[in-house]
Amino acid sequence: MNIILFGPPGAGKGTQAEIICQKLGIPTVSTGAVLREAMKNGTPTGLKAKQYVEAGELVPDAVVTAIIKDRLSEPDCANGYILDGFPRTIPQAEALDAMGVKIDAVLSIELSDEEIVNRLSNRRLCGVCGASYHLLYNPTKDNVHCDKCGGELITRKDDDPKVVMNRLDTYHSQTEPLKAFYNAKGLVKTVSGSETIPEITRRILAELGI
Ligand code: AMP
Repeated sequence: MNIILFGPPGAGKGTQAEIICQKLGIPTVSTGAVLREAMKNGTPTGLKAKQYVEAGELVPDAVVTAIIKDRLSEPDCANGYILDGFPRTIPQAEALDAMGVKIDAVLSIELSDEEIVNRLSNRRLCGVCGASYHLLYNPTKDNVHCDKCGGELITRKDDDPKVVMNRLDTYHSQTEPLKAFYNAKGLVKTVSGSETIPEITRRILAELGI
């Protein structure tokens, strides 16, 4: 099953992707996570992406599309995958079509701008393994270290309130039109992002008929 998790920044796409991919036994492919890793390691892709990510803007389509093309051709993607954070523009969705990818469902996690700003200010990330947490809704045992690997929690630079406003603008102008694109194909299923993490998982699985 090839699934797209769609929604604004902070809606919980990454958190749900982690849970659902374990349940379904398929990998999550997150362009944001790949870009953060590339930036941490100072690779050519990371260097290209840094200025855009830190400003809350989209990395050029050609860069992210190349990442996806490489990743989806790996053997662990043969039985399906969850796309988290890709596609984010119409040209990216068209590139996915051109690769011959067949999408089974687009799960749209919906959240208001106000809730997004509130959520992102309390979001934390493990600086070592990249697991994502929320100080109130998805805390670690001490809210200082990662429960999975013990790494120290950090705040993403692009969760700074000024950058968040830019990411929201970018979402509304460039990413939201994708909903109509996939709606026209009858693929969009909507889930409220304001529920608890287990409840959102339950609703997503129900929408997928699992
Ligand atoms: P995310 O972790 O999905 O919120 O992504 C973090 C940042 O990485 C975004 O704000 C963009 O700068 C960049 N990024 C991630 N995925 C994409 C994409 N599909 N297209 C363009 N930029 C992306």
